[in-house]
Amino acid sequence: MIDLADALALIEQRAEPLPPRRQRLLDACGRTLAVPVVADVDSPPWDRAMMDGFALRGDDVAGGGGVVELDVVVDLAAGDVTSLEIRSGSCARIMTGAPIPRGADAIIPVELAIDGTSAAHAGMKVRLRDERFRAGQHIARQGAAFRRGETVLTAGTPLTAGAVGLAAEAGATHVVATPQVCVAILSTGSELVPPEAVPNFGQTRNSNGPMIAAAVRLLAAEPISLGIAADKPEAIRAAVAQGLAADVLVLSGGVSAGDLDLVPEIFRQCGVEKVFHKVRLKPGKPVYFGVLRRDHVAPTLVFGLPGNPASSLVCFDLFTRPAIQMLAGLPRDDWHLPRSRARLTAATKAAPGRPVYLPCTLVRSADGLTATPLPWTGSSDLVGLATANGMIALAADGGRYEPGDEVEVVMTRGPVTNAPAPGR
Ligand code: AMP
Ligand code: MG
Repeated sequence: MIDLADALALIEQRAEPLPPRRQRLLDACGRTLAVPVVADVDSPPWDRAMMDGFALRGDDVAGGGGVVELDVVVDLAAGDVTSLEIRSGSCARIMTGAPIPRGADAIIPVELAIDGTSAAHAGMKVRLRDERFRAGQHIARQGAAFRRGETVLTAGTPLTAGAVGLAAEAGATHVVATPQVCVAILSTGSELVPPEAVPNFGQTRNSNGPMIAAAVRLLAAEPISLGIAADKPEAIRAAVAQGLAADVLVLSGGVSAGDLDLVPEIFRQCGVEKVFHKVRLKPGKPVYFGVLRRDHVAPTLVFGLPGNPASSLVCFDLFTRPAIQMLAGLPRDDWHLPRSRARLTAATKAAPGRPVYLPCTLVRSADGLTATPLPWTGSSDLVGLATANGMIALAADGGRYEPGDEVEVVMTRGPVTNAPAPGR
């Protein structure tokens, strides 16, 4: 049995980022750019109207709150172009997003048209107040945001929605980015039935399968569900062999020390090198980690999680999540769930010999972060975890903690803001 920190170090030593791949822009969202994106156009591509109004020559405007009367010579909606030049005394009626015609160098917004001339079109006169006029106003200049040939996104940039938008504008239909990590998920246990079945006496619904798939999907990785394998060596071996084609295999059940806990031996037979089995942790003690190495292929990381659903999820969060983030090439700060200190609102008890992870509700108030333990009947109970936004991490001191005591917490749904967690 090893300590959590040692177990994490052993995973870190074996989780190499997967090589970047060329992928369609949208498929790469949530991943990290590996090759810079260089623009194939200027942005804006031409001088662009930023207001609905009248494009004119700044020289025609005296300034100081006077009125300027101009001939409208052309109407320009977004998408319209003209070869007409705007000369002194004339203007174009222009809509936001249209290119500025030659000769014009400012826009007076339509709201400043007076004497009922705001609807003036080509062939009519418009009268405009020149209130607060600035040379060049309401025009976005060609190349003001970026230039053709310029790097608009550097390697290492996370492909957020905004980054995908910018890449699209710069003409990148494909990008080279860290790949999606493929995670095979296998539930073992002869008692298990799929969620759509009504369990008979002695049967248990497979909640781990969908739960782990959901956790994988929330990391922008790709879950590959292998369903259920009964506690028979041939059944588990066949499914494991299939799962070992993925970047990560997450199996649940059959890793403790019972008669039907066949999994560690089957992993061995399939060529998986055991790295650790059993960690000083509650829940989650039986967790297994190993690696399958082959020539010319990235290794497959193999996790055997305990079958009890709460233990499974805690182990996924603590061990499998960082491994997936490492393979995805994410920066170290994104590997682990964030931790913090919080004050307990209710008493709770640590265990001797093993650190305890308990589901809790974290709330940030003026006095700082508070942690309220959720009712929890044990490692098969998902009710608390389902609504939790954190876990209380108690040291292995067997001590009793009182309301107001400061404890370490893990934020399972990201940084906690002022609002109480939804669902409570
Ligand atoms: P095991 O780790 O195989 O000894 O299983 C421990 C407990 O977890 C048993 O009560 C199993 O029925 C239950 N269990 C195992 N796998 C699952 C699963 N996929 N979904 C729900 N419960 C499970
Ligand atoms: Mg079992």
